[in-house]
Amino acid sequence: MDRNAPIQELNGVGPKTEKILQKLGVYTVGDILLAFPRDYKRMPEPEHISVAEPEKVYAFHVRLCSSPVTRNTRAMQISTAQFSDGTGKVEAVWFRMPYICNQLNREPEVILYGKLTLKNKKYVMEQPAVWKPDEYRKMQISLQPVYSLTKGISSKQFGKLVHTALDSVKEDGEYIPEEILARHQFMGLREALEKVHFPTDLEELTGARKRLAFDEFFLFLLQIQRFKEHHEQTPNGFPVVRDEFIEVVAEQLPFPLTNAQKKTLEDLEKDIYSPYAMQRLIQGDVGSGKTILAFLIMAKFAHEGYQTAIMAPTEVLARQHYDTFQKWIAMFELDFPVILLTGSLTTKEKREAYARMETEQNAMIIGTHALIQEKALYQKLALVVTDEQHRFGVRQRETLADKSSRLPHVLVMSATPIPRTLAIILYGDLDISVVDELPAERLPVKNCVVGPKMREKSWNFILDEVQKGHQAYIICPLVEANEELELQDVTSYVKKLEQYYGDRISVGLLHGKMRPAEKNKVMEAFVTGEIQVLVSTTVVEVGVNVPNATVMMIEDAQRFGLAQLHQLRGRVGRGNAQSYCILMNSSNGKNAKERLNILAGSNDGFYIASEDLKMRGPGDFFGVRQSGLMEFKIADVFSDADMLSIASEEAKEYVEKCNLNDCEKDMRLETTLKNAYKMTEYSTNI
Ligand code: ADP
Ligand code: MG
Repeated sequence: MDRNAPIQELNGVGPKTEKILQKLGVYTVGDILLAFPRDYKRMPEPEHISVAEPEKVYAFHVRLCSSPVTRNTRAMQISTAQFSDGTGKVEAVWFRMPYICNQLNREPEVILYGKLTLKNKKYVMEQPAVWKPDEYRKMQISLQPVYSLTKGISSKQFGKLVHTALDSVKEDGEYIPEEILARHQFMGLREALEKVHFPTDLEELTGARKRLAFDEFFLFLLQIQRFKEHHEQTPNGFPVVRDEFIEVVAEQLPFPLTNAQKKTLEDLEKDIYSPYAMQRLIQGDVGSGKTILAFLIMAKFAHEGYQTAIMAPTEVLARQHYDTFQKWIAMFELDFPVILLTGSLTTKEKREAYARMETEQNAMIIGTHALIQEKALYQKLALVVTDEQHRFGVRQRETLADKSSRLPHVLVMSATPIPRTLAIILYGDLDISVVDELPAERLPVKNCVVGPKMREKSWNFILDEVQKGHQAYIICPLVEANEELELQDVTSYVKKLEQYYGDRISVGLLHGKMRPAEKNKVMEAFVTGEIQVLVSTTVVEVGVNVPNATVMMIEDAQRFGLAQLHQLRGRVGRGNAQSYCILMNSSNGKNAKERLNILAGSNDGFYIASEDLKMRGPGDFFGVRQSGLMEFKIADVFSDADMLSIASEEAKEYVEKCNLNDCEKDMRLETTLKNAYKMTEYSTNI
């Protein structure tokens, strides 16, 4: 079977499963192999029902007590069965799985695995996984993958499909040159894919991850190298008059620019007057005030009669920039058109936006990746800014750059505090300016690390803040409850919170699986203060600016990387009031507490990133999405820093070799790059 075969051709994938898989971004057989687990677990020893407690996840070794039954309700078929293990009883309930009854009649002795709940004084497990006891024993020896899934499919089912895919795809698909694999003793691609899904132990998993992390970095860096070759020393095609425009506008700001902002602005001005096109990264901690810099430089181009575009990673952020830009335009009494272009605009609105882009030659255009869609045509596009660029692949940047007849200036803004050595590798194609200073009158955020026992107290604290007129964020790692991960999810959290607060507080819900229009509505309601407490996944992580929010509470904080937590915390402390960050640590591990204490002890992103780097060893990565940086699927800029350096060396050498102009090798580079595009595809599925 070919990797590129549509997923529905895989055994076991019917039309229903196909839809579910597509929702997860799996369209081909190859895609499912690249849908890496988000976590691993070892299956627990079966427990006696008599000592079990409700609301926890267990395995029970049980026997069927009576024949299972399936009822037809209007909504669905519900099957129930009674079990006992000799020490106690449990009822199991399955939805839409009538075939389970036959299976149980044939195999009355099973292992049930799932979350135990107490209903009408009876123990119940909803939708437990079922295994034959000997199968279960076999599984206990190895690590079990847990996938990021959606309703309608379990990790067990997903894992089975991965198995089938591995069995059906015969060719190994290797694209990394033999000598590189040998030099670093990397696993082959096929083996790495097998082991990343089904490792028997940590060592195998580490080996597989290492290889795959290398791939991601290597392919990504090849693209950068490519980009650099094509665009180095691009002539500056957009001459501008050297004048005081920017300074004059900046003077009208209600606040003085910080020295770091001024210095960066000088870099930008130097670039636009230079004979070559700008290719610059602005790295500045959260809240350091990067947006105004983008605005000022864009305004300068508008003043000169050129178009500019700023691309944000989310709708929420694009709209926020749009509002901010309009506010500034009015404040400075400028007369430049501002155009919004995002995916959630209606067809008519989009058509209008396109039409305006064609006629308004000095427009400031703000949008999401809709900006690079085919229909978007620009006039005299002089500058492209990408905000929080780590969310964009190089390819998107390149596409946007290609939309102009002359190559525009490129400015990239990022709040991720990557140590300089790594930044130079990751942004090898760009000059770097650092905004290493926060506006003066900000009060540092007060932090605390607490356990779940303090949850109610924290909620009361939030209530107090809200009654003082402020707002709060609460972040949970999951969108929906996942039986296999005992983590907070936003969907049930909102319900709990609403119950707790009653009508004293209005609570809102935000996550990446909502439709863009819905997200906008929620975010707008939060901006206007209509929503007082926003329960959200990490979609608010990048760039959201609501200065009235003073509390950031993060559930299961130990599950996030420190750099990411720092980003989240950066959503508060943006106004004049004292702000607070509550880090809820639901693990008992010593390591987790120590890591969180680093964060609590400092508000300096660069310091935190470097400490985090020091503290983590290999094998520490489970479940922690360190940074969400650049949307690598598996690689992590922080914990895989060593792979990043290796990949950087190898990518350089490889490109040099290919450029010795051996046609065959160049073909190979093309194929490798094709793979690269596939692996580093933009993903918004948070
Ligand atoms: P980030 O660098 O994280 O993107 P923003 O550009 O969103 O930060 O700026 C955060 C807030 O700080 C905004 O409300 C912005 O208007 C404000 N701000 C920017 N520069 C200054 C400054 N020099 N003094 C005071 N406030 C500033
Ligand atoms: Mg920002």
